[in-house]
Amino acid sequence: MALPSSARLTIDLDALAHNYAVLGAQAAGAEVAPVLKGDAYGLGAPQVGCRLWAEGARRFFVARLSEGEALRAALGPQRPCVIHVLDGMPAGTGERIAAADLTPVLTSLPQIESAAVFAAQSGRDLNVGLHIDTGMNRQGLTPTDARALAQSPDRLRGLEVELVMSHLGSATEPQSPRNRAQLETFAPLRALFPGARASLAASGGVFLGPDYRFDIVRPGVSLYGGGPFERPHPDLKPVAIFEAPILDIRTIAPGEMLGYGGSVVIQRPTRVAMVAAGYADGLIRAGKSGGAGWFAGAARPFLIINMDLIAMEIGDAPAAPGQMVELMGANALIDDLAEAAGTVAHECLVRLSERAERIYLGEAV
Ligand SMILES: *Cc1c(COP(=O)(O)O)cnc(C)c1O
Repeated sequence: MALPSSARLTIDLDALAHNYAVLGAQAAGAEVAPVLKGDAYGLGAPQVGCRLWAEGARRFFVARLSEGEALRAALGPQRPCVIHVLDGMPAGTGERIAAADLTPVLTSLPQIESAAVFAAQSGRDLNVGLHIDTGMNRQGLTPTDARALAQSPDRLRGLEVELVMSHLGSATEPQSPRNRAQLETFAPLRALFPGARASLAASGGVFLGPDYRFDIVRPGVSLYGGGPFERPHPDLKPVAIFEAPILDIRTIAPGEMLGYGGSVVIQRPTRVAMVAAGYADGLIRAGKSGGAGWFAGAARPFLIINMDLIAMEIGDAPAAPGQMVELMGANALIDDLAEAAGTVAHECLVRLSERAERIYLGEAV
């Protein structure tokens, strides 16, 4: 039998369903609206969306209009749901928004104005959300804009505001006073739009306590197994399991340099597995110092991450070419990988490339 020769990305849709249920329990009555931007954090928005719809999700968030169109096409007319586009409605996109039945989350007064013009021209009401900036300073109406809007409702003529949302800038740090400050800014602003449902929490916010949950929560990374506070959470399961085969095992003598550039100088006889994965698969090169794969029951520190090869120190573990090493999964946790690489679990997932073989576990529908 041929040995495995390439990396494998298993996307566990049953684990996804489990995490959706965990977040639902944690949200305690608030609607869980999964975030599927970036092709569902690189894991496949069609498969992820269909499975979450089957689990009960009826509202999704994407970033781009094109992502919304693709998700609507993948879900099809047999899976009705609300798809919110976080970019809102950039000028000239009304026809496409309407054609794909998307619900833009409007982010500025000019967007609101052009959405109202589009609604008037097309002769029917348009469902929209409003994004209010409560201190992240990234996207959304200023509180002043929001108050002005609430005082002149004619500016919203033809627009059915069904959602008012904001986004927390420091939700992964539960102790940060910024969370409470944003909450206190948001609460009176959402009350200006009493007919709309309110949403403040992404993954981190879901776990900050009941005050933060409002009507709708918008988790992304925790659905896919990343801890809400950038640390592993015991109730969440990994959805992306990335494994790659050992190609070769060698023992390197003291004084030798490993790989490019001579930055890794071997100090003592070191047994190393060469693994068939690298940054061309989307693994983050910066994770080479501090990161580890999992093999034969233990974490095995990386020595180098090249485009196609990873060298891992395996000590005296029994090993043979063709055996698989876990680079992401239940033991090699994405939060740990992210920490080693100086990034967030979101980036570890979204960078996974097309090179590895992809297998979906569990039903998509
Ligand atoms: C990405 C994003 C989310 C999801 O964030 P996670 O940290 O992945 O849970 C929610 N809301 C907005 C506005 C976002 O941009």
